[in-house]
Amino acid sequence: MRIDLHIHTQPRSTCSAIDPEELLEAARQAGLGGICLTEHQNRWPPEEVEELSRTGGIRIFQGNEVTTNRGDILVLGYDRDIKGVVAIQDLRKEVEAVGGLMIAAHPFRGFLLFGISQLQLSVEQACKRNVFQYVDGLEISNCKVTDPENDMARQVGERLGLVGVAGSDAHYPEEVGKCVMVFQREIRSERDLMEEIRARRFITEYLK
Ligand SMILES: [Zn+2]
Ligand SMILES: [Zn+2]
Repeated sequence: MRIDLHIHTQPRSTCSAIDPEELLEAARQAGLGGICLTEHQNRWPPEEVEELSRTGGIRIFQGNEVTTNRGDILVLGYDRDIKGVVAIQDLRKEVEAVGGLMIAAHPFRGFLLFGISQLQLSVEQACKRNVFQYVDGLEISNCKVTDPENDMARQVGERLGLVGVAGSDAHYPEEVGKCVMVFQREIRSERDLMEEIRARRFITEYLK
């Protein structure tokens, strides 16, 4: 089952140009069996997600993309809206208490601006970034960042034993389904999604 884990729609994410109808069409074209809505700092009412899922004939899950003092974190299994910037250790406590999952989104986005190679940021040094103490996993395939940035994330994940996930971070319809997770099992709920991610029963794909 192919799932895109990181999608923004309008109007709930003002930065996105994808309206929900277009999203369904794009997801069908990309051959996805499911998508996960990860709006910035806010969630859909569950009944609206169910309705969209029914009309679209595709499974729709939702997480949340939370702004923390250590960067953007995708959170699954935690249904509170958080306004403003939250301290990552506080978020960790709350998410852990409800059995949720935290994933560092695009953890090295923008690093190339300063030049990974110029700065000689080694994988070892990258592993020491504070954020990685507080997450279960990290994005190793995100279509908004460069290949070296994704590659750095993959190496850090391997070194630290964090699960590496894929999500397009789609803000335009044509980006939906570029970075996907292909699960071995059928995913029916957000609980399933978390369980299969934790068990690493998937592969990631980046369609360029
Ligand atoms: Zn983000
Ligand atoms: Zn995002």
